[in-house]
Amino acid sequence: MNQPESNQSKNNKVKQLIAGEFEVSQCNEWIAVTNPATQEVICETPCTTMDEMERALESAKTAFTTWKDTPVPVRARVMLQYQALLKEHHDELATILAQETGKTFDDAKGDVWRGIEVAEHACNISSMMMGETVENVARAIDTYSYTQPLGVCAGITPFNFPAMIPLWMFPLAIACGNTFILKPSEQCPNTPTRLAELLIEAGLPQGVLQVVHGRKEQVDFLLTHEDIKTISFVGSVAVGQYIYKTGTDNLKRVQSFAGAKNHMVVMPDAQKKQVVNSLVGASCGAAGQRCMAISVAVLVGEAQEWADDIKNAIAEIRPGAWDDKDAAYGPLISPQAKERVLGLIQQGKDDGATCMLDGSDCTVEGFPDGNWVGPTVFTDVTSEMSIYREEVFGPVLCLVKADTLEEAIAIINDSPYGNGTSIFTASGAAARRFQHEIEVGQVGINVPIPVPLPFFSFTGWKKSFYGDHHAYGKQAIRFFTETKTITARWFDSDIPSALNMTIDLK
Ligand code: NAD
Repeated sequence: MNQPESNQSKNNKVKQLIAGEFEVSQCNEWIAVTNPATQEVICETPCTTMDEMERALESAKTAFTTWKDTPVPVRARVMLQYQALLKEHHDELATILAQETGKTFDDAKGDVWRGIEVAEHACNISSMMMGETVENVARAIDTYSYTQPLGVCAGITPFNFPAMIPLWMFPLAIACGNTFILKPSEQCPNTPTRLAELLIEAGLPQGVLQVVHGRKEQVDFLLTHEDIKTISFVGSVAVGQYIYKTGTDNLKRVQSFAGAKNHMVVMPDAQKKQVVNSLVGASCGAAGQRCMAISVAVLVGEAQEWADDIKNAIAEIRPGAWDDKDAAYGPLISPQAKERVLGLIQQGKDDGATCMLDGSDCTVEGFPDGNWVGPTVFTDVTSEMSIYREEVFGPVLCLVKADTLEEAIAIINDSPYGNGTSIFTASGAAARRFQHEIEVGQVGINVPIPVPLPFFSFTGWKKSFYGDHHAYGKQAIRFFTETKTITARWFDSDIPSALNMTIDLK
């Protein structure tokens, strides 16, 4: 694997970052990371021991005592340098990411780029941390507030965006003056390791960022330890619910971004070509392994006649290895993920949906062992079927029918998920009604995947998000900081009695 020596030891054991040093864990349990196109073992992820977790936490606590007092412009300058380094290493990061996820190189570059944008946003930390003031709340008394960091924050991230999602979390938390412990996905450890190396190269002091590895045991340490102030999680619904419940039971601030099932409404007045092109990429891009993938198209009225055009366009794309320039997307992350998707496709057929395009028997020349699933399209899908209800996380699109916009909105609002949705229409009235009535957090109008930039927030609803503040973007500052309000008297005068709860009534 084309990767800097410092990421791994000679025998491809992924290193962890504790107290400013990349070190080999003393653990007994290692998780094999395989190339999803070949099953070749790329490296092994450690399951950080509990002693090592304690050391990581101690290091983060110690670093907090000085990092919180590091001037805000100095913290911003580290992020400026980091943004520059991430851009300089964009292709290298995308190569590492593509090799461990199987994503195509261009898609991997997009994953890294969406993360760079968050680091860029963190450069603006000085203005984001500004407090508020009111002069003369009483005679000669002013009140003002400061935004202060919390302490040690932790992040637990999924396999499908190993650059973007860790970068949603630690640059903003750290720029706010916190220290951070990252537990990335055990399936894709190399990209976050390289991200950490570059942050240290950008001048981050020792101990401000720690990277530990593993699974439930390591996550439980973070969820239950009283010295960890916040938990940021992105991953599946079942784990997301567990994280939210356990973290809040341990009286922590938790934001938990979970799974999804996103619908696109296609109105008959939409531009057919735009609809078809958008559906190809939004359903099958990244092999459907995106929390914002469109997995259901709701065809309204005469748009139902476009089913064959949609199927024919999707039939033209094919998967391939990360460096195959003609591949539309890569393999699924693991043989288990492939088995699961194939099982759902079979269940869809058994439940009576019509499989217009079946990607179950997909092969890619030269890669007989890859986790390939070809593009798949179902029609005659109903809301009781598991292919409709469950998050498939594969290149599978379901077509459902609605007679009216009202019916389409009702179908979507009935879904337990609320991450993203979109409408394609030429009608302003239809789009306005949709944006107003739809119970989903991120809405696209003639935009298939409406992911906002970091100066907004990533705002999933319902089963797609548990918590009070959204991790990335604007509200992240509220999540990673506390507000301190000061009321000050600036010169000597008689101090009124505090007995009646007022300072100065006149
Ligand atoms: P996952 O839930 O299996 O794993 C996520 C993280 O949780 C990993 O770091 C993993 O090690 C850890 N983990 C797994 N099992 C655990 C357990 N029992 N206890 C504690 N920690 C555990 O998710 P994944 O398969 O890596 O990622 C895919 C999922 O993430 C999909 O459901 C997708 O929709 C979701 N996702 C959501 C968003 C969003 O913004 N809402 C973004 C990306 C991905």
